[in-house]
Amino acid sequence: MRYKPEQRGTANGPVVQILTAIVAIVIGSSTWADDPIRVLIVDGQNNHDWRKTTPVLKACFEGTGRFKVDVVTSPEQNKPAEDWNAFRPKFSDYGAVVSNYNGQAWPEPVQKSLEQYVSNGGGLVIVHAANNAFPEWTEYNKMIGLGWRGPDYGDRVTVDKDGKVVRTEKNQGPGAGHGAQHEFVVIVRDRQHPVMAGLPTEWLHTKDELYHGQRGPAANMNILATAYSAKSSDGTGENEPMVWWIPYGKGKVFTTLMGHGDYSMKCVGFQSIVTRGTEWVATGKVTLPVPQKFPTPDASLSAAESK
Ligand code: ZN
Repeated sequence: MRYKPEQRGTANGPVVQILTAIVAIVIGSSTWADDPIRVLIVDGQNNHDWRKTTPVLKACFEGTGRFKVDVVTSPEQNKPAEDWNAFRPKFSDYGAVVSNYNGQAWPEPVQKSLEQYVSNGGGLVIVHAANNAFPEWTEYNKMIGLGWRGPDYGDRVTVDKDGKVVRTEKNQGPGAGHGAQHEFVVIVRDRQHPVMAGLPTEWLHTKDELYHGQRGPAANMNILATAYSAKSSDGTGENEPMVWWIPYGKGKVFTTLMGHGDYSMKCVGFQSIVTRGTEWVATGKVTLPVPQKFPTPDASLSAAESK
């Protein structure tokens, strides 16, 4: 019988397709492992204990196997200009930049470099007091949407009992603050969003500060989760935004107001949101699974307890 390539090809078609699929799966999974997302954590000044919290953040990223993390530490407060001249993080080398920084203004070239990085498609993640930083930096305030500012700075945003976003104009209502630290329930507001898909709708976060009255331009703000700020904890009696994202040029800025202390960052819910949010701003997708053991509305869960 004469060899007929087209017949042979047809007869082996399904086998070839299956083999091709297996190869694709193998290559796909090895790519995931071999091609981690590069993350840069920025710290060096903060009214919070960044020396204690940066290692928790770093371990939380590295624990997923999805990220390769570098840390860049700024000069301390009031260091001479030559120290700052050496502080030039190369943001463009990274899939995402995570700010654990709340301190003096960065030199203008560093500000411009971050603006370009995000507007060209980079991902920026703001953790807790990082939104207190840089009130004078206009573009930064656009990126974060809401910051720790006084009531005269800009609008305030809350979510009413029907889930509707409510804007309060500047000089109306409270400015930035928080009551006593306590455990509080986080409510997911956009269950379709890739970062939130598969998470429980409500879960109890470990002890943290519940920020309220944050102020800013709040343009193009997509609220992903809120928390009820109870008056019994010296709060506002409103649902305050906890997690949101804002598009900036081709890039994305993801904010979590959670993360005051190392103990707050050990919450399985916090870690899930910050790693999934970082993967999403870096790649536009979320592949990290939601942990099987997750806090419930009644019981918080720290990472150490979940293992
Ligand atoms: Zn704090």
